[in-house]
Amino acid sequence: MAYDFDLFVIGAGSGGVRAARFAAGFGARVAVAESRYLGGTCVNVGCVPKKLLVYGAHFEEELRQAKGYGWTSGEPAFDWSTLIANKNREIERLNGIYRKLLVDSGVKLLEGHARLVGGQHVEVDGQRYSARHILIATGGWPQKPDIPGAEHAITSNEAFYLEQLPQRVLVVGGGYIAVEFASIFHGLGAKTSLLYRRDLFLRGFDESLRVHLRDEMEKKGVDLQFNSDIRRIDKQADGTLKATLADGRVLETDCVFYATGRRPMLDNLGLENTRIEQDDRGFIRVDNLYRTTDPYVLAIGDVIGRVQLTPVALAEGMAVARRLFRPEEYRPLSYELIPTAVFSLPNIGTVGLSEQQAREKHRVKVFESRFRPMKLSLTESQERTLMKLVVDADSDRVLGCHMIGPEAGEIIQGLAVAMKAGATKRDFDDTLGIHPTAAEEFVTMRTARE
Ligand code: FAD
Ligand code: NDP
Repeated sequence: MAYDFDLFVIGAGSGGVRAARFAAGFGARVAVAESRYLGGTCVNVGCVPKKLLVYGAHFEEELRQAKGYGWTSGEPAFDWSTLIANKNREIERLNGIYRKLLVDSGVKLLEGHARLVGGQHVEVDGQRYSARHILIATGGWPQKPDIPGAEHAITSNEAFYLEQLPQRVLVVGGGYIAVEFASIFHGLGAKTSLLYRRDLFLRGFDESLRVHLRDEMEKKGVDLQFNSDIRRIDKQADGTLKATLADGRVLETDCVFYATGRRPMLDNLGLENTRIEQDDRGFIRVDNLYRTTDPYVLAIGDVIGRVQLTPVALAEGMAVARRLFRPEEYRPLSYELIPTAVFSLPNIGTVGLSEQQAREKHRVKVFESRFRPMKLSLTESQERTLMKLVVDADSDRVLGCHMIGPEAGEIIQGLAVAMKAGATKRDFDDTLGIHPTAAEEFVTMRTARE
């Protein structure tokens, strides 16, 4: 049978664009359908605008710290609309780059909503296309708990386009987005509270990081309320929101921001026309080659709910393109040692096992260093950096590297290479530092913590 395309990708986000471009580069005839924005979540309402807002929020501290170095200037003032307009301009520039990348690599871009109609067919705006393989890369969508008044709350999608910076914000959740946005709102000047339903946020991360971030955020003045959950939200005539908590307290705010996880984006995708199964959390079920339970359809990225990070979606997209169209270059993706950063203020960077995970299977030695970053020594800031190595006491292999402090993500990225290569603590010790840096601390920690 002759198909319109060898590969039909649904969704031009991180994973979809990568798969489409590489498949086209390998000589396949490829189409990609995109209903909303080129570049997907990461470029439009995720990693990129988030990091720009984090930079924006950090200038407040840097302006204050500059005084210790002799700089004076007028009273700093912040203008939200300037930041958002400049951010929007940058995102539009990136949208254009994504368009050019796709078109230049010979991918047919269809700007519309795609729907599976069964077999090897997809429909976009009434037009039906056939394809040898179909790849779902439709990403995820923020989800709010179903409580009375939830419609008055926003999610990350809306936060990037608020017309004004709210004076008071309640951020709900204890994952990446909650701690990042609590840092953003606080840094930009909003009175910010973070409400999390359990004892301590960032469940799953190394305990030392979680405690250290809690202490640092509290020092900065973010109001952290653990074991707190909102039961209902009521909007007052003047626009103020009243959030009633499970323990009966009522908090008044201008904005409730839910960062309570993301569901797979399957809206009107036509799954009912296929044999695709979902897992018990609703994500698309795939095997280790990203094949769904429908013989013609594959799926990658956030919609399969494995690890919701852009580099993972990119790597999955690449793996699919290679396996289908350049099998001699195919290598399965390893989900071990995925480095990650949380762009809270201060930043977290981490790779490998937390101390708690390591102790389940290994006898461990832990090396920890806490210090005031040199850059802050002439300032009034009391912020402290934490670096931690978790080492297998028997093999000397480094099992986990964790950091909280300025540029933690930048530093941990390099250490992730060392860990992938199987570095031992001895290798770390034998590596000379770069002086004076914070990062050299990772190669100079000598005494294991008791
Ligand atoms: P997406 O990038 O979401 O792309 C899916 C695309 O499919 C979208 O463009 C959508 O419009 C389109 N689509 C959906 N349905 C259809 C349809 N039926 N027809 C046509 N098109 C359709 N990850 C990091 O690694 N680092 C970070 O710092 C980071 N920060 C984040 C901050 C926020 C606020 C959020 C929400 C996420 C963040 N992430 C971050 C996660 C990252 O954005 C996702 O893991 C990544 O975008 C997933 O890529 P994807 O290709 O699976 O889906
Ligand atoms: P996460 O899954 O990271 O965190 C969700 C949080 O919401 C958890 O603390 C969870 O609590 C809490 N929660 C879930 N349901 C409810 C509820 N009904 N009521 C109250 N609290 C609830 O999701 P995010 O939305 O923060 O981010 C989605 C994903 O996007 C992340 O997991 C990450 O993969 C990716 N991302 C990556 C970033 C990065 O790389 N820097 C930045 C932003 C996002 P509990 O702990 O009890 O489950």
